[in-house]
Amino acid sequence: ETMFSNISVAPPDKILKLNGFFKADPNPDKINLGVGAYRDANGKNYLLPSVRRAEQMIYDQQFPKEYLPIDGYAPFNEAAARLIFGKELHNEIKERTVTVQELSGTGSLRVAFEFIHTFFPDAEVYIPSPTWANHAAIVKKTTLRAARTYRYLGNRAVDTEGMLEDLRAAPAGSIILLHPCAHNPTGYDIPDDQWGRVFDVLEQGKLIPYFDSAYQGYASGDLDRDAHVIRDAVKRGFEVFVSQSFAKNMGLYAERAGALHIVCGVPQVAEAVRTQIKSTIRAMHSSSPCHGAYLAATVLNTPELRAQWEVELKAMAARIQEMRQALVDALEKHGVVLPGGNDHITRQVGMFSFTGLTPDQVLYLRDNCSIYMLENGRISMAGLNPSNVDRFAGFVAEAIKAKPF
Ligand code: PLP
Repeated sequence: ETMFSNISVAPPDKILKLNGFFKADPNPDKINLGVGAYRDANGKNYLLPSVRRAEQMIYDQQFPKEYLPIDGYAPFNEAAARLIFGKELHNEIKERTVTVQELSGTGSLRVAFEFIHTFFPDAEVYIPSPTWANHAAIVKKTTLRAARTYRYLGNRAVDTEGMLEDLRAAPAGSIILLHPCAHNPTGYDIPDDQWGRVFDVLEQGKLIPYFDSAYQGYASGDLDRDAHVIRDAVKRGFEVFVSQSFAKNMGLYAERAGALHIVCGVPQVAEAVRTQIKSTIRAMHSSSPCHGAYLAATVLNTPELRAQWEVELKAMAARIQEMRQALVDALEKHGVVLPGGNDHITRQVGMFSFTGLTPDQVLYLRDNCSIYMLENGRISMAGLNPSNVDRFAGFVAEAIKAKPF
């Protein structure tokens, strides 16, 4: 007897499923290019030394395990807002900005869309095509209808014209989800000189920008540069939502350290927004965990650790950039020319590269070469290193021979 017999198995998450295949593969030379987590030059996961020092300080000073307030650890919120908006702009807007700690980027998105569904039930949500798969899932769960998409990926670049055309057709009050840098999964960012046009269309159409910032510092190695799009939007007078994750740039993945920021047009409404966001959080998970927030706040608020972190973050970004060039060189050595050439690999930024390999080639690589990557041809650049990049390129040559374009 069971009440659960009519429940069918949910489709597995593609990335987690791929990870399962990778783990089960006994080949010692297997290569995991699926998961978006940083790996060092030896293919190992990486606990940032600045974060380890912060952890020691937290331990020595016996930070409490008492409940945090519903909106989180105040020194973390303050530091997170200063990091994303920059000191100057943060000072200007803090009276009209609501910042709450959330369960990394995902929790931040989830709470924001609960709030959006409650107070803007008719708003359409537009996400790029393609985008991180969880965007569509979160919108569907919260607003109970499918997100609409706008064109994003064109011919080995952002389809800016297609994107603007789709945004022009969006009804006023629509929420437009944007990646401020290091677009996942394509690695193509909206060119700097095109953002002004995007903002013009948002302004004319009364559309609301929602920035999902999961890779600040990862795209260029420079925290300010990777946040300038968000700052420009705020300076232009938009009310914005920002989801901020410390998973990648501080390596805090499982600590679930992140924040939600809502910049309101006037300070008079911020208190109402803050209390409503807090009551949303209260009914979902009551409050957030303390440890990740302690770690991030300690790194951000201790000048010496902050400086060290920036050096470590730069080094992670630089290693990935070096691997882009190394991959281009290795492909050339093995005579591989991807459709349209290989230069897109160095034009792309952030953790990922859309290689242009076909699903057949991807499956060939998985079944015959122990190389694990997403069927859409996305690879995590962090999975490549000096000891496997040549081998990877050689296998790509083999896969293209076996399964031509
Ligand atoms: N947004 C994007 C675009 C991402 O790529 C990710 C992680 O892969 C996230 C948000 C959220 O990650 P987390 O919940 O671990 O902060």
